[in-house]
Amino acid sequence: MSSVLEIKGLRAAVAGKEILHGIDLRIASGEVHAVMGPNGAGKSTLSSVVMGKPGYEVLGGTVTLDGADLLSLEPWERAQAGLFLGMQYPTEVGGVGVVDLLMEAARSAGRDPSAVPAAVAAEAERIGLDVKLLLRSLNVDLSGGEKKRNETLQLAVLRPKFAILDEIDSGLDIDALRAVAQRVEAATEEFGLGVLAITHYHRLLEELRPDVVHILARGVIVTSGGPELAEQVEVDGYAAFAATG
Ligand code: ADP
Ligand code: MG
Repeated sequence: MSSVLEIKGLRAAVAGKEILHGIDLRIASGEVHAVMGPNGAGKSTLSSVVMGKPGYEVLGGTVTLDGADLLSLEPWERAQAGLFLGMQYPTEVGGVGVVDLLMEAARSAGRDPSAVPAAVAAEAERIGLDVKLLLRSLNVDLSGGEKKRNETLQLAVLRPKFAILDEIDSGLDIDALRAVAQRVEAATEEFGLGVLAITHYHRLLEELRPDVVHILARGVIVTSGGPELAEQVEVDGYAAFAATG
């Protein structure tokens, strides 16, 4: 079944200052949309508002998944609706392991939790993560690359409808970047994952191939286009786009 994540006229403030001035995005199942833009453009704010991170004030507009409002939901309810919220430091919260969390998520989604451990093992192998790391009591011991692989493993096991990945490439070496990007790319075909990938760099997009590239500058999407837009940014920088924003 095809789904749609739709952001319409989204305006949001942080610390009393309007950062997003009306964002429109429509992502369908299986599509990869990249949002690129200079530092301070509002990329992380966009990701945080859609995921329901506390501290962001929505001033206007809507975010819906298959027509159902997400903005009025708690983050966990958004996850149940099909949005992936990266659980970056799961074991820091209450000492619960990632396998337990994923089993609980499967249970609340009405799926068989007993299938989760095998799925975790298979995904760990696939993404090049030592499964023993997942049994560590403290996720804080994971390296940057291991954390991102772990997050991607969770995504693959959870099979959400949509994922918003904010700078999933930051701090990754080329091997980890490739493993993560390829796994996400495969998910778009395997279970129709729709992706909003936020990134500074073209490099990620060589593996995670975007259908649409959006340039965000000063809280507005100043232009959208195909993958060639990411290549143009690589050559020209953001200055040309930012000037119009
Ligand atoms: P990007 O991810 O594109 O680099 P951000 O969304 O992180 O940009 O930030 C957009 C703007 O919002 C910046 O001017 C930043 O200083 C401001 N901002 C972000 N978070 C906060 C915060 N918690 N308090 C105050 N200002 C913030
Ligand atoms: Mg950011």
